[in-house]
Amino acid sequence: MDTAVLRVGWDYGYFARWMQVSADNELGMNSEFGHLDDPYPFPSDAHFMQRALDLAARAASLGEVPVGALVVVRNTIIAEAFNRRELDHDPVGHAEVIALRKAAHRLRRWRLVSATLYVTLEPCPMCAGALVNARVDRLVYGASDPKAGAVESLYEITTDPRLNHQVKIQGGVLAKQASEQLRSFFRHRRSVK
Ligand SMILES: [Zn+2]
Repeated sequence: MDTAVLRVGWDYGYFARWMQVSADNELGMNSEFGHLDDPYPFPSDAHFMQRALDLAARAASLGEVPVGALVVVRNTIIAEAFNRRELDHDPVGHAEVIALRKAAHRLRRWRLVSATLYVTLEPCPMCAGALVNARVDRLVYGASDPKAGAVESLYEITTDPRLNHQVKIQGGVLAKQASEQLRSFFRHRRSVK
């Protein structure tokens, strides 16, 4: 009996703290990013994209092409990943695929209907297909990829009405930072070869 009371008391305390932290996050994000002249419809997009850029920088430090991705559900990061093709000798080891897999494992469901995927570079055909298959609600990406982009550049897989699911898209978020990160990675790689 006493244990049960204690547990309820602790749970309530935990819940109250969680509510406070959520409220603080919301306020912090809005005050920092939610200006009237914000170019993005969702004020927190730049915040999460900055985190994806940090993950991409980690990939670069390990010799991987710098692409970072995260899955967010109701303003909470569910999964984070970066490109690991070289590390894992994995042809499908793109940041998006790894992030979607991690998120699905964590949520214990493969349909990610309320999820937003943030990625620093426009997804390729494989990853755009994975977004459709995972029923992701929204995609936010940074730099466009004129050579392999399958969201707006070469193909429009995520919004193709012939497929059974369409993803809302927002490109160009912190695009300058993302493309500069890629450019400097390839510049550096050429210089050491
Ligand atoms: Zn890809």
